[in-house]
Amino acid sequence: MIKLMDKWRITNHLLKHSSKLLFDRRLSANSHNSVFRSALECSESLVKRGFGNASTIRYRCFGSEATKFERNAAFSTLNSEDVSYFKELLGEKSVIQDEDVLLAANEDWMRKYRGSSKLLLQPRTTNEVSQILKYCNSRLLAVVPQGGNTGLVGGSVPVFDEVIINMGSMNNIITFDKGSGVLVCEAGCILENLVSFLDDHGFIMPLDLGAKGSCQIGGNVSTNAGGLRLVRYGSLHGNVLGLEAVLANGDVIDMLGTLRKDNTGYDLKHLFIGSEGSLGIVTKVSIHTPPKLSSVNLAFLACKDYFSCQKLLREAKRKLGEILSAFEFLDNQSMDL
Ligand SMILES: Cc1cc2nc3c(=O)[nH]c(=O)nc-3n(C[C@H](O)[C@H](O)[C@H](O)COP(=O)(O)OP(=O)(O)OC[C@H]3O[C@@H](n4cnc5c(N)ncnc54)[C@H](O)[C@@H]3O)c2cc1C
Repeated sequence: MIKLMDKWRITNHLLKHSSKLLFDRRLSANSHNSVFRSALECSESLVKRGFGNASTIRYRCFGSEATKFERNAAFSTLNSEDVSYFKELLGEKSVIQDEDVLLAANEDWMRKYRGSSKLLLQPRTTNEVSQILKYCNSRLLAVVPQGGNTGLVGGSVPVFDEVIINMGSMNNIITFDKGSGVLVCEAGCILENLVSFLDDHGFIMPLDLGAKGSCQIGGNVSTNAGGLRLVRYGSLHGNVLGLEAVLANGDVIDMLGTLRKDNTGYDLKHLFIGSEGSLGIVTKVSIHTPPKLSSVNLAFLACKDYFSCQKLLREAKRKLGEILSAFEFLDNQSMDL
């Protein structure tokens, strides 16, 4: 138990004193940035102390807040010809240069990260997404896909002046099969709207999270969002049956299957689940939805510490089996908010 507490304390210390970015040690060990270096050394020695008896030591190094990133000079800068191209492709209304809109779109939910994009595009079809990416690729314009901008790790906002491709206008439900519970929709559908749609048909979404009023299914897929119901319905790797996505060069890949058991070849959709838009833009999602529960009971229990909380979850799983559909804990600090 003492060993376990030690590990917990060390991990906690590491998390507290490190910042947002993970670095590859081989790339960063020669860093001349002294703040970064000391964070690196500190984390190494702590990791060694904490896991010294393990057969291999896995280094996890954290960059410091002081680490600066340079804009890659190979990327172009947006010009008026680019804007004209996008206006012709999407129409004036879907090419946003309004300062207030851009201010909000450049900043993340936690207000920790802020970019300086001068352009936000709102495509309405897969073909438009494809044309945008093809053009940006040929012009070497950097882009960032954006859903509801509720992500908590800064992935949805530009680092510098990337063109923001917001998926909010691709918000149509394409099909819903009551027999199989398979829903096919566009990536910009807001989670809560899908919940309401399914409710009318006696089904629920397999995921539920606090940001449901703003987050989009494409964003959920791209972050591999878990949420409250994961304990019963599993992760999106199990529930997402298919995807359509557009690669950086504009190629559309159709992986929009609707079969639960599909063992034909490589299952490429899994690469996109949780990839934070780094592999392409998700444009359509096919997802398995479970039937609505006939009754729901909620218990609010007090535990004296985190370990009893874990014990409670173990017991609840053992005694309730798959009846247990959600489990969340909040600490004293959160209760006092
Ligand atoms: C109040 C609150 C509660 C939350 N609760 C949970 C929780 O319980 N469990 C959990 O796992 N997470 C939770 N989150 C974080 C969660 O990951 C996001 O809220 C949500 O999944 C992101 O969806 P979004 O549409 O807002 O995506 P965004 O924030 O816009 O984007 C997130 C990432 O996905 C990329 N992206 C967005 N759309 C696409 C697309 N169509 N194609 C390719 N890439 C795309 C972006 O570039 C970015 O990297 C919570 C967040 C908040 C604010």
